[in-house]
Amino acid sequence: MPVTNPRELGLLSDCESCFGLCCVALPFSASADFATDKDAGRPCHNLRDDFRCSIHTRLRESGFPGCTVFDCFGAGQKVSQVTFEGRSWREAPQTARQMYTVFPVMRQLHELLWYLAEALTLEAARPVHDALRSALAETEQMTRQSADALERLDVAAHRAEVNTLLLRASELARAGLDGKERRGADLIGARLKGADLRGANLRGAYLIGADLRGADLRRADLIGADLRGADLSGADLTDAIFLTQAQLNAAAGDTATRLPATLARPAHWADGAGKTASRNRPSRADQPPGGRSGNGPSGNGRSGNGRSGNGRRTRGTGRRR
Ligand code: SF4
Repeated sequence: MPVTNPRELGLLSDCESCFGLCCVALPFSASADFATDKDAGRPCHNLRDDFRCSIHTRLRESGFPGCTVFDCFGAGQKVSQVTFEGRSWREAPQTARQMYTVFPVMRQLHELLWYLAEALTLEAARPVHDALRSALAETEQMTRQSADALERLDVAAHRAEVNTLLLRASELARAGLDGKERRGADLIGARLKGADLRGANLRGAYLIGADLRGADLRRADLIGADLRGADLSGADLTDAIFLTQAQLNAAAGDTATRLPATLARPAHWADGAGKTASRNRPSRADQPPGGRSGNGPSGNGRSGNGRSGNGRRTRGTGRRR
């Protein structure tokens, strides 16, 4: 019986055990989310020698809100401490290239583990629980491969296989709710205030800057949905399916927003930050090329649901103390 608890699976980010991989391996572009450009493999100028961020307490006001919404699902510490056995790219520069290549692969595997673990909590998905457990065990095993094997891994193919299972689990969980079909829909800036979206299929939907105040999103499947700047004030997300902390962190909300028990209310919601003015809503053109799969787990280390050009950080706490 595989472990299914996200904490026991090591899916909660632990920056203290990571070599700042998201601040080095991933590129980002100057935008509303990042104050500057940075190429993949080049350390961010704010990254200190001890792998901590020199502006972690003021990322948003310093023009790096994208850094506050990224979630590596624990891939950073796995690559740092397991795959490369605690030797950093500073100590062993010859490993840097491979470490940066493996990190986004590991992130995808950890993201899949997160969704598989959640799917196993869906009672209605019981008919596929055996298959989900097998996929979880297989994926977990993949994360423990050597760096060479991880570099060669066809993670896109594995993702596609797992996504078929996740979709089936979602269909079972939403059965009988007659939810709206909005998979991959362009709902940028949509006026959905008070909308009944119970059981809706919003997989990969573009909800950037959407007005979802007071919307009922219970049992809605939100995997890969782009919620940047969406206003979730007063919305009910109590048992939304496949919603992640990164998606919440990228959206706006308030104390009346109802959340799944596993997710935390982002700290910046208290001051109304994160609400994207309609005149300044990001468009599809702002999104990273290939940065989202549209219909399932993300493809390249960016979920597309909270960062353009790939931010970092998770759980609204800011990065690297
Ligand atoms: S958290 Fe962001 S700003 Fe800070 S070092 Fe990392 S990439 Fe740079």
